[in-house]
Amino acid sequence: MSGPTLFEKIIAGEIPAQKEYEDELCIAVHDINPQAPVHLLIIPRKPIPRVGDALDEDQDTLGHLLIVARNLAKSLELESGFRVVINNGPDGGETVPHLHIHLLGGRPLEWPPG
Ligand code: 5GP
Repeated sequence: MSGPTLFEKIIAGEIPAQKEYEDELCIAVHDINPQAPVHLLIIPRKPIPRVGDALDEDQDTLGHLLIVARNLAKSLELESGFRVVINNGPDGGETVPHLHIHLLGGRPLEWPPG
């Protein structure tokens, strides 16, 4: 049996993180290894492993994460643009098996990703 995920430990306060936002459904923390001047992780409190494993009943939570991303992008004044990323599974580059949205901004971002 696997124990709580890294992000569950951050949510529980067992591992410190720089928190930017929280509400009843999610928290947003600064990534420990930022890839842009703004790099937040928006994490549902429910430990959904990845978007590919989300249930139909998670619809409101999934939508909420994007609304929070929108609000944070606005409050952090990313009016010139930003990117939201969800990595899914090994080929998707997911390293923490607890769904999270990366919110990246503050510099021009290249496309396509590697
Ligand atoms: P993934 O690769 O799963 O899409 O994203 C996981 C992210 O979690 C990575 O960007 C990584 O830098 C970040 N991360 C890993 N460990 C920690 C940690 O202990 N604290 C914080 N704030 N971010 C972490």
